[in-house]
Amino acid sequence: DIQIRRNVDPKDDYELDSEIGRGKFGTVYKCKEKSTGLPLAAKFIGCPKKEDRRNVEREIDIMKALQHPRLIQVYDAFENGKVMCVILELIEGGELFERVIDDDFILTEKSCTVFMRQICEGVEFIHKQKILHLDMKPENVLCLTKTGNRIKIIDFGLARRFDPDKKLQVLFGTPEFVAPEIVNFDAIGYGTDMWSVGVICYVLLSGLSPFMGHTDVETMANVTVAKYDFEEEAFAEITDTAKDFIEKLLVKDMTSRPSAVEALAHPWLNIDRVHSNMELSKSKLKRYVIKKRWIRAVNMIVALKRMGAKIDTELIHIEDDENKNNIA
Ligand code: ATP
Repeated sequence: DIQIRRNVDPKDDYELDSEIGRGKFGTVYKCKEKSTGLPLAAKFIGCPKKEDRRNVEREIDIMKALQHPRLIQVYDAFENGKVMCVILELIEGGELFERVIDDDFILTEKSCTVFMRQICEGVEFIHKQKILHLDMKPENVLCLTKTGNRIKIIDFGLARRFDPDKKLQVLFGTPEFVAPEIVNFDAIGYGTDMWSVGVICYVLLSGLSPFMGHTDVETMANVTVAKYDFEEEAFAEITDTAKDFIEKLLVKDMTSRPSAVEALAHPWLNIDRVHSNMELSKSKLKRYVIKKRWIRAVNMIVALKRMGAKIDTELIHIEDDENKNNIA
């Protein structure tokens, strides 16, 4: 059983290596356990307030309850002053969408089902433990290796234990992926994660984001009415079975959405002959991923400037015109 080790420096036991990721809350480094040489990941989270520490404690507690091959595993944890450090299993393949847009990856409907099936398996296990993830989005689906097709769900920072008899409301998440009940501050449930699974599937197949507006407010307005369509060109090659899978998940009434178990029983994830083996165009998905990279980079600069860093924007080199356009 993993207990949080207090007032111990993680550097006593782990050798830190390069940075591998950064989120709103944490910075993740590659590291190695000194005693065994085992490669792992160390996520450092600044916790100036007691409430921040409690949030990380909840994240660790939830991860401990989620021992499953499709879910990130926690290895060790430290609280050292106002910084907490969580040692995690190292996932080396990078984000799912980054892998999919790689030139040597062939995207077909079949390959999408391989990923969506694993995502649903992970969510099924989370829900079986009476936990909601509440931050299901492409960034939180990582590939185990650079060449294989196995994935893992990460980031339980927003996850909550769920008692179906008690009303749970939350006000967070990523507008593009959150369900209408989150935007409306209504009761949430297992269906809330399933909505996000539907949005991930829509983006994976088409490179378009079904509810994305020009601003977060516009996106949330689109989500609350739960109205979207299958843009003709992007969905021209997509089978009706795939569209049916998405349609069943993206319904406004949370209780009408399939559970993870039901989604796993859907023909799209089961019957081989319903998949088209046609290679899907990745140009829209590439544009989507590049735009996300840029938004992240800009947010990082804004955050650094807010902390007082002097950044010479002239020095930030814009690689090509496509990127430049996407930031607008
Ligand atoms: P968010 O802003 O999404 O809430 P966060 O601050 O809680 O993020 P994470 O999402 O856990 O942080 O991690 C940030 C990034 O670091 C991830 O998007 C991922 O690319 C990378 N990362 C996280 N955990 C691991 C891991 N165990 N192995 C490899 N990379 C990881």
